[in-house]
Amino acid sequence: MQVLGSNELVEDVLKRDFCIGCGACVNLCPYFKSYHGKTAMLFPCTLEQGQCFAYCPKVEVDFDELSSTLLGRPYVASELGDHHEVLISRAGDEAEQGLFQAGGTVSALVSFALKTGQIDAAALTDREGVIPVPRLVTDPEEVLKCASSKFTAAPTLSVLNQGRRDGYKSIGVVGTPCQVMAVAQMRLNPLGKENFQDAAGLVIGLFCTWAVDTRRLSALLSERLDAGGIRKMDMPPPPSELLVIDTGQGKVEIPLDEIRPLVPTGCQICPDMTSEWADVSVGVLEGRPDWNTLIIRTDKGRELIEGATKKGLLVTEPIPEKNLSALRTASMNKKKRALAQARDRRVLNRNEDGNRSALRIANETLEKILE
Ligand SMILES: Cc1cc2nc3c(=O)[nH]c(=O)nc-3n(C[C@H](O)[C@H](O)[C@H](O)COP(=O)(O)OP(=O)(O)OC[C@H]3O[C@@H](n4cnc5c(N)ncnc54)[C@H](O)[C@@H]3O)c2cc1C
Ligand code: SF4
Ligand code: SF4
Repeated sequence: MQVLGSNELVEDVLKRDFCIGCGACVNLCPYFKSYHGKTAMLFPCTLEQGQCFAYCPKVEVDFDELSSTLLGRPYVASELGDHHEVLISRAGDEAEQGLFQAGGTVSALVSFALKTGQIDAAALTDREGVIPVPRLVTDPEEVLKCASSKFTAAPTLSVLNQGRRDGYKSIGVVGTPCQVMAVAQMRLNPLGKENFQDAAGLVIGLFCTWAVDTRRLSALLSERLDAGGIRKMDMPPPPSELLVIDTGQGKVEIPLDEIRPLVPTGCQICPDMTSEWADVSVGVLEGRPDWNTLIIRTDKGRELIEGATKKGLLVTEPIPEKNLSALRTASMNKKKRALAQARDRRVLNRNEDGNRSALRIANETLEKILE
């Protein structure tokens, strides 16, 4: 992996408008800050190599290196990434009920992992109006306050970095695929630190097709509703084509045609829909809004699911073939779209004239995906 410094990060990511505001470069040093969805470098830094560049999911992400280090083999062209099993799930009767986005699988799993001590803190995303607010949660009771999706890109990883500095040793992370990719890059120990310890004790990835820019959504909604009262947002499955906002006093519907122009450029070159580098990945389930789709990827993920199920905190069922097939197609379509975009924008596998790439994927793997 090519690791450079903050000046190259600013050139390649912030100035190209690829920044997704994930927070991976925030709270590592005093220079990078995130405010209301925007990440900025406040002061110049002269280091030639930085954690900020190394962790960023929008510059020099090398899929073979990630896969070889984390899975022991080069990256292969598959729809859903490495996994043991795909199921459907929801929070069980023994789990505390909350204002979940769908089945509450994520909240149930985070609470369980905190209660059993598998993690000593969790990096979650709360909301203040439209603004997504990262929270490092240590009390299982606090997990429910962060339930439900904020469809704006969030600087969640800033609290993972803060938690590591504060001495937490096993932090659970709930994140979108770009955030999960940044955590995977942290796990590579890209700067070769001595006594390196992987502080991410558990990674629960969300599915994501795209997010919305926080500032642009704020501006749009300021004309339509009092953002302070927002309780929940949802995008019901097609053919609805709506963002539905529960304001606490009723529902406001906004056509997705008005929302799509607010999607950040960084989402257009994002090939991962299902958080391929997570321990478990969770999405919605079409046709059953109070259930989730659940992908178990690692042994750690399997133990978590088995433990939570035994305690009645989670219920699982086999996934219907129709849903699995639709998931595979949607995920592969996102890869094809994003890699074609990255190629057309000249940020894929670029080697000539010293230019850096956003993504690197072996040519034969790329051909299989794009065929
Ligand atoms: C931007 C975005 C786009 C998504 N797109 C899709 C999609 O295309 N298809 C699909 O199947 N599912 C998508 N999801 C996932 C889906 O909305 C649910 O998060 C998932 O099904 C889990 O549901 P749950 O009921 O288990 O979550 P809950 O138990 O309600 O918990 C939700 C968790 O999500 C975390 N969270 C909320 N907002 C964010 C955020 N912006 N960034 C990081 N973490 C956050 C919270 O910390 C909380 O722990 C998306 C989620 C987000 C945030
Ligand atoms: S994408 Fe994330 S790591 Fe990269 S510059 Fe933006 S906030 Fe920082
Ligand atoms: S589409 Fe990709 S880059 Fe955009 S928020 Fe989702 S995971 Fe992140």
